[in-house]
Amino acid sequence: MNSGCLFCKIAAKQIPAKMIYEDADVFAFEDIGPQAPTHILICPRKHFSSLNEAAPEDQAVLGKMQLVAAELARKNNLLRGYRTVINSGVGAGQSVFHLHLHLLGGREFAWPPG
Ligand code: AMP
Ligand code: ZN
Repeated sequence: MNSGCLFCKIAAKQIPAKMIYEDADVFAFEDIGPQAPTHILICPRKHFSSLNEAAPEDQAVLGKMQLVAAELARKNNLLRGYRTVINSGVGAGQSVFHLHLHLLGGREFAWPPG
């Protein structure tokens, strides 16, 4: 745990969040500022600032984040279309520096993204 990290504090239940899914490797909760009817953040329990800090030994947890996203998309009836996004770095809009995968669904999405 990184004691200064918002999402580590959510994982430790020191800050409240609407938790959707938890296991030994990952946790998922509702985004506080949803950009779509469904907007869930899926995080590794291990603290990484961003994808830039991930190493080969983190392959399994990175894969699990994707599989949890797909499972939550099914559970939330998003199979017409959903989007998974990882913003990496300030230039991509990252604002919380604990790696997280956004799962967005329940509306139409444009491409290219903004
Ligand atoms: P990003 O800009 O990719 O780093 O995404 C950070 C996300 O975290 C944003 O969508 C925020 O709305 C969300 N967020 C920030 N604080 C909280 C919080 N306390 N609980 C839930 N989501 C949060
Ligand atoms: Zn953290």
